[in-house]
Amino acid sequence: MERVDCIVIGAGVVGLAVARRLAIAGREVIVLEAADTIGTETSSRNSEVIHAGIYYPPGSFKARACVEGKRFLYDYCAEHGVPHRNCGKLIVACAWDEIAKLHALKEQAAKSGVGDLRMLSSQDVSGMEPAVRCVAAMLSPSTGIIDSHLLMLAYQGDAEAHGAMLAFLSPVQGGAVRDDGIRLDVGGAEPMSLVARTVINSAGLHAQNIATAIKGLRPASIPPRHLAKGSYFSMSGRQPFGCLVYPMPGPAVLGVHVTLDMGGQCKFGPDLEWVEALDYEVDPARADKFYAAVRTYYPDLADNALVPAYAGIRPKIHGPGEPQPDFMIQGPEAHGVPGLINLFGIESPGLTASPAIAEEVARRLNRSFEKGQGP
Ligand SMILES: Cc1cc2nc3c(=O)[nH]c(=O)nc-3n(C[C@H](O)[C@H](O)[C@H](O)COP(=O)(O)OP(=O)(O)OC[C@H]3O[C@@H](n4cnc5c(N)ncnc54)[C@H](O)[C@@H]3O)c2cc1C
Repeated sequence: MERVDCIVIGAGVVGLAVARRLAIAGREVIVLEAADTIGTETSSRNSEVIHAGIYYPPGSFKARACVEGKRFLYDYCAEHGVPHRNCGKLIVACAWDEIAKLHALKEQAAKSGVGDLRMLSSQDVSGMEPAVRCVAAMLSPSTGIIDSHLLMLAYQGDAEAHGAMLAFLSPVQGGAVRDDGIRLDVGGAEPMSLVARTVINSAGLHAQNIATAIKGLRPASIPPRHLAKGSYFSMSGRQPFGCLVYPMPGPAVLGVHVTLDMGGQCKFGPDLEWVEALDYEVDPARADKFYAAVRTYYPDLADNALVPAYAGIRPKIHGPGEPQPDFMIQGPEAHGVPGLINLFGIESPGLTASPAIAEEVARRLNRSFEKGQGP
């Protein structure tokens, strides 16, 4: 059976960031990807926002990874010619009692190192974004947008330049924990098995299925998978926004916001719908709720302006009404299998945080070798 140093399962933005980081560190890396190209799942079904790091509990890995990832991405994109725009974003209060929540968000963000937020009056906002109605707002100057596909191509290019190999149409179907590493059984046109010293399970929505299919990994260590679909509607006609516009965040979501892409197109979304299956169809009937939500801050949204666009599915590890957990980067200290790191619940801001998640994976691998937990 062929032996390799390090296998990354999944060529989404996180898997590619990890492959890049480990290849640069001199590891022999193979990326196994079920699809025929990179980034066909969640990494190409999101808002493409470089998040500032406002919303996450101070001290959490999510908060740190978002702020570090943001800094890294602006430099990396500039150096590698990845299209991006530091367009900024407004979080708008549409009722007086929301202003106190804006201040609370500002304080929370400052504790996470996001010290550049500015409170704005409704007049300030009218001068900046005449189409937006609100009673007050907060400006996040460091929020931006990015072409996520070209970011992934840049990560792939870096990884390959440092010797990593990507194997497409190579779905991991199962495996087993062995004394000398982890065996992975790969399907596709030419099925084969490989034994790796290190495996990073970065399969996004499928990470739990893969973990379950590895014999010798305790099922109790695998968190439940919950699917939260987010649909987007695009706007026909000329779009009036210069920056991103977000309502006040809800308990589980950031709210239906204005997203702009690098082509200047405007979309609204994502909403939140708990689902049982991976179905990316956008139900046109959801538009009614979008009109109501968007018109709270953009009253001029014309009837019939919204067109179903696309949907993404958040790989959550908590169910409806449960508190939002941190990203789960699960190593041997949690599941007892040397050399295995499972990435669970990598929902938003996983795109922004991808470089910091990769850094954390590299750090954990070094640490487990120091502790003798590496095979
Ligand atoms: C609606 C929505 C909006 C979002 N907006 C933002 C945002 O604006 N900013 C931000 O920072 N983040 C955002 N996110 C989060 C971000 O998109 C994700 O965190 C990120 O894309 C996750 O990347 P990933 O590589 O973990 O997963 P994925 O992109 O899903 O990649 C997993 C890969 O694994 C492969 N795979 C699956 N099973 C197997 C197998 N058995 N064998 C081999 N390969 C396999 C898949 O084909 C896929 O390529 C959003 C997410 C959603 C759902």
